[in-house]
Amino acid sequence: MSFGVYIHVPFCKKACHYCDFHFSTAKERSSVLSAMVLELEQRARRQVDTQALSLYLGGGTPSLLAEDELALLFNAFHKSFNLAPHAEVTLEANPDDLTTERLQMWRRLGVNRLSVGIQSFNAVALKWMNRAHDASQAERAIPLIKDAGFSNYSIDLIYGVPVNTDGDWAVDLEKALQHQPPHLSAYALTVEQGTALAHFVNKGTVAPATEQRYEHQYEQLVVATKQVGMEQYEVSNFALPNRYAVHNTSYWQGIPYIGIGPSAHSFDGYVRRWNVANNGKYQKALRTSDLNYYEEEILTEANQYNEYVMTGLRTQWGIQEGAVVSRFSPGIVQHFQKSVEKLVQQKLLITDEGRLRIPEAHRFLSDGIAAALFKI
Ligand code: SF4
Repeated sequence: MSFGVYIHVPFCKKACHYCDFHFSTAKERSSVLSAMVLELEQRARRQVDTQALSLYLGGGTPSLLAEDELALLFNAFHKSFNLAPHAEVTLEANPDDLTTERLQMWRRLGVNRLSVGIQSFNAVALKWMNRAHDASQAERAIPLIKDAGFSNYSIDLIYGVPVNTDGDWAVDLEKALQHQPPHLSAYALTVEQGTALAHFVNKGTVAPATEQRYEHQYEQLVVATKQVGMEQYEVSNFALPNRYAVHNTSYWQGIPYIGIGPSAHSFDGYVRRWNVANNGKYQKALRTSDLNYYEEEILTEANQYNEYVMTGLRTQWGIQEGAVVSRFSPGIVQHFQKSVEKLVQQKLLITDEGRLRIPEAHRFLSDGIAAALFKI
């Protein structure tokens, strides 16, 4: 069975105010990385087929690892798994980590795609987010990676940042798109519980952007990417034709993935599993086989259906009516067909050769439309 591998590198230089991913700013990383090597070996032993379709190093900040640290992970991966020919190997990189030497080192290790966390080119916005990079590092990032020979890359941006006006966002888009990137991911800023941003909002020192501003900046994004010939192949992801991210697309199409490292998630189509989001507990559990470093949940049929609907409807390919009918039991199919009928009448869904899609004008509301099809 095809699958992708995700390696979560749980370290960052500093905490961005809005971030709720799992990471630590500890300088001592060797024991966690060794535990990740153990997990790679352990997980591969349980695989019948060890050929991965794609490898994605995310985090956290994988770009801050030194050569010996990254090599440790890559060597362990190659010892345990094989990569399909021409497989996509992505590394998330922050602008402050980009140097010619590091870029060359990543190429030597087999990285062939970068996901560059620029987020904004605006000095005020970057400071507000508490990012580790400044505006000049953001400006230099793409020329640097192109000079190093990386033609396959994605730029990450964030919209709905309270200190960014619509004009600032237009400048961010212009600066990103002037490079003609093959891929762009743009996410709406969300206030996640437990983050510094949530604390500021609760204290009343920060007011989140209004719904209208989110919607307007989303429209600016859709228009600007279309003007340069990019396709919105997922609500937050845009690519030049056929430059879709293989790893992410597999995930949206329900292809299984194996997640390695603290907090990483795995999914095989039926069972969802998540590793403990704590570096100390993770490494201890991996070294002592009597402790478990993950929890898992067998998805009910209704949850499998909800998952299929939610991920599929966020993409330009939508979902196949036939797949729902053949895969799920009559009760779910009946519920699906009744709900679809209503949404089609409301013009929130369109049918096209057996596929159901959300029309472009309503994609901003994808999650809400998908939720209207859920089986609770
Ligand atoms: S660099 Fe990324 S993972 Fe690290 S704190 Fe910032 S947003 Fe979170």
